[in-house]
Amino acid sequence: MEIVHTISAFKQLLKPLKKEKLKIALVPTMGALHKGHLSLIEIAKDSADIVVCSIFVNPTQFTDPKDLERYPRPLEHDIKMLTDAGCNMVFMPTVKEMYPTFPVPEDWHLDLGPAEFLLEGEFRKGHYQGVTQIVKKLFDVVEPDIAFFGQKDFQQVLMIRNMVKHFQMPLEIVSCPIIREDDGLAMSSRNIHLSPSDRENSLVLNKALQFVSDNFEKLDLEELLAKAKTMINNTPGVELDYFTIADSESLLPVDDKKAHNSVVLVAAKVGQTRLIDNMILN
Ligand code: AMP
Repeated sequence: MEIVHTISAFKQLLKPLKKEKLKIALVPTMGALHKGHLSLIEIAKDSADIVVCSIFVNPTQFTDPKDLERYPRPLEHDIKMLTDAGCNMVFMPTVKEMYPTFPVPEDWHLDLGPAEFLLEGEFRKGHYQGVTQIVKKLFDVVEPDIAFFGQKDFQQVLMIRNMVKHFQMPLEIVSCPIIREDDGLAMSSRNIHLSPSDRENSLVLNKALQFVSDNFEKLDLEELLAKAKTMINNTPGVELDYFTIADSESLLPVDDKKAHNSVVLVAAKVGQTRLIDNMILN
C-alpha cells in the first residue's frame, strides 16, 4: 500500500494509472478508522480497480475548536487497518498541504441549497462549507471515477451530491449502509470518548430510531415523534439537538406519511460527545 503525503507525489503515482484507464475509487475519511470505514473500502474494492483512502482531519469543517483538538488520530492503527483491508493507496496530507494559507482562510462559498442550513447545518454553522471545500480539493487531487460515503452522515451525502452537481464533476457518489455495534450503536470515531455510562445511555438513539421505523405504519407522525423524543429525554446524560422525520431530499419535516423517501434523523449530546444517527423509512 502506497502512503502519500503530498499532492505532487500523489499526482505522479496517479499518472500511469490514468493512462491505463483504471477505475479509481476514493473513500474520504478523517481517520480513527473502524468497521464502518472498512465497509466503505470493501464496497469500493468491488467496484473499482484502485481504492484510495484519504485521511485528513479537516479543520475548516469543525465548528468547535475543542472537538477538533480532541479528535482521535491513531495513525499507525489506521495504516494497519487499511493495509489489512487491501486498500491500494492512502493520501495523508498535512493541513498546510491542503490549505497553503492556513490559518488564513481561503475564499470558499458554495450555494448548497436550503438543506444546508437545516439539522446539522443549524447546530454546526458553516460545517458543510468546510466539508464541501475539502471534498472538492480531494476530488481534484485524486480525480476518482467513484467516491464512497456513509449514510451515517446522511446530510453530508446530500451536500456532496449538490457540490458535484454545481461543478459538473464527472464522478459517481455512492452512499453506503450504516455499520453498527452489536447492540445497535452506530460506529463512529467519536464513540471512544463515551464513558461506560454514556455508552449505555447512547443506545437510546438507535432504539428511538428503531421505534419509529417499527411503528411507522401504525402510529401517526405526531405520536411517533412524541414517543421517540420522550424515550430520549428520559435518558440521563442525553441532550437532544433534533429528532425529525424528514423528506430525504429537502430534509424538511414530512407532514404526510404516505409521502415517499422519508428518513428519521437524530443528533444528541451524550455526556460530552455529540452523536448523530438516522434510518431510512420508505
Ligand atoms: P469520518 O472519518 O467520520 O469523516 O467518516 C468517513 C466516512 O465514513 C464518511 O463517509 C462517513 O459517513 C463514513 N462512516 C462513518 N461511520 C460510519 C458507519 N458507522 N457506517 C458506515 N459508514 C460510516
